[in-house]
Amino acid sequence: MTENLDPFEIAVKQLNRAAKIMNLDKQALALLSEPQRILQVRIPVRMDDGSTQVFTGFRVRYNNARGPTKGGIRFHPQETLSTVKALSAWMTWKTAVTDLPYGGSKGGVICDTKKLSTGELERLSRGYIRAIADSIGPEIDVPAPDVYTTPQIMAWMMDEYENVVRHSAPGVITGKPLDLGGSLGRGDATAKGGMYVLREGARKIGLDMKKATVAVQGFGNAGQFAHKLVTEHFPGSKVVAISDTKGGIYSENGIDYEKLLEHKKKTGTVQGFPGSKNITNEDLLELKVDVLIPAAIENQLTGANASKVKAKVILELANGPTTPDADEIFFKNKVLVLPDFLANSGGVTVSYFEWVQNVGGYYWTQEEVYEKLDKKMTQAANDVLAMADKYKVDPRMGAYIISVKRVADAMKSRGWY
Ligand code: GLU
Repeated sequence: MTENLDPFEIAVKQLNRAAKIMNLDKQALALLSEPQRILQVRIPVRMDDGSTQVFTGFRVRYNNARGPTKGGIRFHPQETLSTVKALSAWMTWKTAVTDLPYGGSKGGVICDTKKLSTGELERLSRGYIRAIADSIGPEIDVPAPDVYTTPQIMAWMMDEYENVVRHSAPGVITGKPLDLGGSLGRGDATAKGGMYVLREGARKIGLDMKKATVAVQGFGNAGQFAHKLVTEHFPGSKVVAISDTKGGIYSENGIDYEKLLEHKKKTGTVQGFPGSKNITNEDLLELKVDVLIPAAIENQLTGANASKVKAKVILELANGPTTPDADEIFFKNKVLVLPDFLANSGGVTVSYFEWVQNVGGYYWTQEEVYEKLDKKMTQAANDVLAMADKYKVDPRMGAYIISVKRVADAMKSRGWY
């Protein structure tokens, strides 16, 4: 039978598994099985040639029991409501696992940023924010970047929101450029947080990271910085493979970060990098490496390829890269999966720091940000690993048990069940 790859159905399946293990109250489970609110908008955008194109966007609030909701905005040609719903659920568990005073949400617009001019992209970004302005705000719902959205896009969105509400509101959105109230350390926060989690995971299984080989799938914000930070955090380790949407490269001697960046800038792809051999994105996942870092999109590790994965540790910097069938295989094969909403929660954690700085109007040094991030991630990683051991389940379920309990407790205190 082929595996069901619908993202929201996967998210609900994971939740149901956790609910069973932790014996979650049925009413709490019912509340947590669907988003609280789904907003769908149509955004007319004046294109450079004078015509108007209408785009569809979403903003989904999954659960706000623990505080204002938080979650990025994704611009993607294959965006669907199911994906945004799944991502908003995962944001709810993500903010809970690091114990941030937030709920979870997510946004998305169906569009191909590679086919838009800068002006069109700006008008689309502003149009989207005008369309959802009623449902966001520093105390309501706080967006951030995600796949194919950038600090510049956050800047336009903040500016547009302030135009609507007629007052300064830097805390309405995070991942902003530094000159508009962005936080030091936000740029590489997702990958940085992942390195702290990887350190704890490797320690747990006795993997010497100083000798480790690493493969990274993806060259966006998470993948690119993961490439840079692996060797910085674990001197002696090697990134032997990396990919982008066009394909990947492999070099057993390790791939130099700066040189690859230059090559990618010049040619538009990582492929053809001198001294490396071209591989496919699928090949990359099955390489003989110690650590595999999926840092692209959903459903990369499935029932079809999980048994061919040779890595000892999988650090999920992407959201939803592993399906439930693959999870089962990894658990059986003793592959340590450091699950997405733990492994990539460094991004939203520094988003939270940014929001705290915006709301308080008092800014921190980069060292302070990293130190606080390390503390949060180390605590969360060890809590998750300990919970997994306690229930004899994989770390994803360990993380679910922690997060679902925190959200359920907040709902209970509010009298929602
Ligand atoms: N889009 C990122 C994520 O999936 C960051 C979210 C945020 O900073 O609010 O975690």
